[in-house]
Amino acid sequence: DLCSVVRSSAAALEPVARARDSTINMLLPDEQMMIPGDTDQLRQVFTNLIENAVKYGKDCGHVTVRLSVSDEESVLLGPGVRVDVIDDGEGIPSFHIPRLTERFYRADSHRSRALGGTGLGLAIVKHIVNRHRGRLRIKSEKGKGSQFSIILPVTP
Ligand code: ATP
Ligand code: MG
Repeated sequence: DLCSVVRSSAAALEPVARARDSTINMLLPDEQMMIPGDTDQLRQVFTNLIENAVKYGKDCGHVTVRLSVSDEESVLLGPGVRVDVIDDGEGIPSFHIPRLTERFYRADSHRSRALGGTGLGLAIVKHIVNRHRGRLRIKSEKGKGSQFSIILPVTP
């Protein structure tokens, strides 16, 4: 159940968000969203993305986690579900975006180093999403925030 996976990932990061007076808003359907996949690996995907959204967001920031039935991607994957992790932080300059999923790549190396971590999070996300025949989309605007979207097939 993708809803419960996403919910538990967000719950684990509540203390981190609270520490910087940020909020994590959950927009999830009421019913279950069953998909084929590895629960622990998928939890790791959303934990990584939500952690990034809180970490690279601002103090008193707003992180939104939204789960919906995917529409435009249906040509690519068959029926799918989509999870968006949206922040209102600094955003990422566009020239970095194609490289973010490379191992050890960090967009703002000074700041990223100060915040801790290794630069492996998104490489792992990409790897797990590929294993699930899913897609990762990254949209960001400098100064406005970022949106990381995961699209996963519903059929085995
Ligand atoms: P780790 O995840 O291993 O702890 P990390 O967070 O630096 O370290 P990634 O999760 O792979 O590594 O992210 C790579 C880089 O992408 C980050 O260092 C940061 O510069 C940038 N980044 C990722 N998510 C965001 C975001 N939501 N807003 C702004 N920059 C981001
Ligand atoms: Mg990370």
